[in-house]
Amino acid sequence: LNEAWRIVNQAKIKVIMTKSKPRLLSGDTPTGKLHLGHWVGSIELRVALQQCYECYFIIANVHAFTTRAEFPKEIRQNTFEIAIDYLAAGIDPKQSHIFIQSEIPAIAELTCFFSMLLSFPRVMRNPTIKDEIKHKKLGDNYSFGFLLYPVGQVADILSFRPSLVPVGEDQIAHLEMARECARRFNQIYCGVDPQTKDEDYVTSGGLFPIIEAKLSRVHRLVGTGAPNANGTLAKMSKSLNNAIYLSDDADTIRKKVMAMYTDPRRLRATDPGTVENNPLWIFHEIFNPDKAWIAEAEDKYRKGQIKDVDCKHKLVDILVALTQPMRERRKIYEQDLGEVLKILKHGTERANEIAEDTLIKAKAFMKQDYFKRLVKLEP
Ligand code: ATP
Ligand code: MG
Repeated sequence: LNEAWRIVNQAKIKVIMTKSKPRLLSGDTPTGKLHLGHWVGSIELRVALQQCYECYFIIANVHAFTTRAEFPKEIRQNTFEIAIDYLAAGIDPKQSHIFIQSEIPAIAELTCFFSMLLSFPRVMRNPTIKDEIKHKKLGDNYSFGFLLYPVGQVADILSFRPSLVPVGEDQIAHLEMARECARRFNQIYCGVDPQTKDEDYVTSGGLFPIIEAKLSRVHRLVGTGAPNANGTLAKMSKSLNNAIYLSDDADTIRKKVMAMYTDPRRLRATDPGTVENNPLWIFHEIFNPDKAWIAEAEDKYRKGQIKDVDCKHKLVDILVALTQPMRERRKIYEQDLGEVLKILKHGTERANEIAEDTLIKAKAFMKQDYFKRLVKLEP
């Protein structure tokens, strides 16, 4: 957690100096439940940062429609699942705001304005978009809205003018677009000199900060399965059936770990084993805090002096302990969906205040501030 603690410490100093919390934005698309890849890839950092940042966590249900427009019921269900996953993982609704993207009209409006600041070839050059088209086998049959979604993500982020955006590796391309878009907006509408340094855009009169990506300690957790044909281990992913979910019970975790891929050439415990590119050891290195145990066990594994089963049992204990408090919190929220809805409503109301404020300012800079309006959720 070194990286997380470094950021936490920096943030604490900032909170003390400015007597206010800087803003943080992050979130997920509700296309399924959260797994350990999401945990080490961003949720863990978010939980650690919520004391020192005013956190906004977006459940990006509109983005879910880009590839799953025919499944509205699932998207609704996944929206609640992600909310419960967050709360179970330790996102504290008293400190942080969890909100639903489709209930924030300012995001949709800013998406539209921002889309005019980016050229079509620029959007198509986005490497994450290219990857997704390939991985999700979209061919050339993706929707117009699918191409718009990175611009939507620019609006998700900039609506909150955050200081920090913890993201996964694949989101860096989208954040780069947010930076470009913010620079352009600030130059065209706020009169900021194009020679201005990124960190000086706001103090030079710009509305939008030029935000840096913040990656978590593990950029890409592998799954529990065997490597593919070219020898690389796939990343943990809900669509590859290789994931351990934050919501898995102890028994399911045990089964998944015991069935986990390890060194296939090791038929007996006395055979020398390979530690490199072996999910069992990748998981130990990421989740097991006992570095001395790992060093000793890896050495024994290489020499054929330790059983796979024993190393797997140890990993089961660690993962079950990590997720135990999550299961306890989950039980509480699953039995009280009214409370979950209340948390979402409260978070969405607060998110609307910030996003509306940004939109009003943006419209003023764009000379399109004709009337004032209020966005209000019904009780
Ligand atoms: P899908 O199989 O539908 O692509 P997924 O399990 O890969 O689903 P996403 O919703 O694509 O999950 O991931 C959301 C974010 O979580 C990603 O942007 C990425 O940053 C992070 N993430 C997902 N999987 C991992 C992983 N295995 N390791 C680290 N980060 C991950
Ligand atoms: Mg994915």
